[in-house]
Amino acid sequence: METIHARGITDSNVLNAMNTIPRHEFIPQEFQKLAYEDLPVKIGYQQTISQPYMVAFMANEAEIKATDKVLEIGTGSGYNAAVLGFLAREGFVYSTEIIPELHEFGKRNLHRLGLDHNIRCSLANGSVGLPKLAPFDVIMITAAAPALTNKVKEQLAVGGRLLVPVHNPERGCEKLMKVVRINDTEFMEIDLGDVSFVPLRGEDGFKN
Ligand code: SAH
Repeated sequence: METIHARGITDSNVLNAMNTIPRHEFIPQEFQKLAYEDLPVKIGYQQTISQPYMVAFMANEAEIKATDKVLEIGTGSGYNAAVLGFLAREGFVYSTEIIPELHEFGKRNLHRLGLDHNIRCSLANGSVGLPKLAPFDVIMITAAAPALTNKVKEQLAVGGRLLVPVHNPERGCEKLMKVVRINDTEFMEIDLGDVSFVPLRGEDGFKN
């Protein structure tokens, strides 16, 4: 946790969430010794749980308030959803996952730890967001999108924040974009720098 604090995450709620949610409980047995290293860890099906610093950084930038309604795309292990659920403690987190086995894994982890009271996991392609349940105060995509599309941006409430790693072919990595909805028609886009994520699949994701 010192590492995260030293690297500029100062929001005490985010630090508190990182200190409270037991990351090792979301990691397959064989990799559990890596749970508290600042590294991404394999969770099977060629997917990874992001490094703690990235989870904290994205949560910090999302400026999550206690009553926020949050959408996460890419449940994976459920760890990031648990952090979001901790921060939006009086609000709600919807988390979608496209791989059935990981949907079950994430959902089971959250349930076992009693962290699912304000989190609902669904097996769905989230590359187009979750239009039926929009608008959201926060949308966090934890896989790399080929491009920033309007479909997801439009699901933000006014004042809402979208965090999404967007593929950057020139650099061969992703840039983490933060989009803030100013009003009905205007959005502010901020480039938060280079990151590395597994690809987003499905419609509006990468095709293979
Ligand atoms: N947030 C996760 C890790 C994310 S890894 C955690 O804390 O463990 C990215 C996840 O996004 C993977 O589980 C992957 O299967 C999922 N994913 C990829 N494309 C998706 C899509 N279109 N809709 C929903 N989930 C998707």
